[in-house]
Amino acid sequence: MELTKSHIQLIQQELNKRGLNAGPVDGIAGNKTKAALLRVAENKSTWPFKRQAIAFIQLLSKENGIDAGKIDGYWGPQTDYAYGVLREFLSTGIMPAPWRDEAPASTTNPNNWPVENDVALKAFYGDVGKNQTRLTLPYPHRLSWNKRQVVKSLFCHEKVKDSMLRVLTKVLEHYGPEEIKKLHLDIWGGCLNVRKKRGGTTWSTHSWGIAMDYDPDNNSLRWGADRALFARPEYDKWWQFWEEEGWVSLGRAKNYDWMHVQAALKD
Ligand SMILES: [Zn+2]
Repeated sequence: MELTKSHIQLIQQELNKRGLNAGPVDGIAGNKTKAALLRVAENKSTWPFKRQAIAFIQLLSKENGIDAGKIDGYWGPQTDYAYGVLREFLSTGIMPAPWRDEAPASTTNPNNWPVENDVALKAFYGDVGKNQTRLTLPYPHRLSWNKRQVVKSLFCHEKVKDSMLRVLTKVLEHYGPEEIKKLHLDIWGGCLNVRKKRGGTTWSTHSWGIAMDYDPDNNSLRWGADRALFARPEYDKWWQFWEEEGWVSLGRAKNYDWMHVQAALKD
């Protein structure tokens, strides 16, 4: 993990709020910032700057009631998550709702997606691997396993195509191309893939081309909200756009497989 300009800016801003005179909030760790950071009581003078900076972020999190783990100056997944919450809280003044308090699995289902079992899915979508159509993406995707490979269109089931297009158009309008890249909303892990569920005997929803995976590297199948990137508050809108169309995020509904969203309800 590297400290970026925005980390330093947040630190400078908060040091100044404490009257510790970190100098201008310019994102550059100069002498004033370093001296101010040393005056934070919890910091140890023997620690390198980076560790002091991280410890201060952990302290700020703790003071605002966000669990960042131990104040040890090391950037683990808990600190990473806390930083996302802290940043949003400091910039908006509103504490983002923890994922557990979000409305579970979508309550709206405007496209009447079927329940996820083989009988209901076959009745609604037909046989696995059939009725596929090409969707031209509103913004380019990149293959998660080969990020230099740009994807401009993909195959999905003809019944989900329009809905998927509406979602991704809203994503583009809301986040814009730069934020999309930053948040990995373009790192695509696949849609149509006729296969059985991992660790199961029934068909995966990918078999009908009615599920999408995003950024699998940072949203491993078994990871919960404490580790998965897409569980963070920055992704609330992303999920909202899918859920408004009745799509189900397994992450939001079941707290695993945060890479995955599907046009089928969990029973
Ligand atoms: Zn999936």
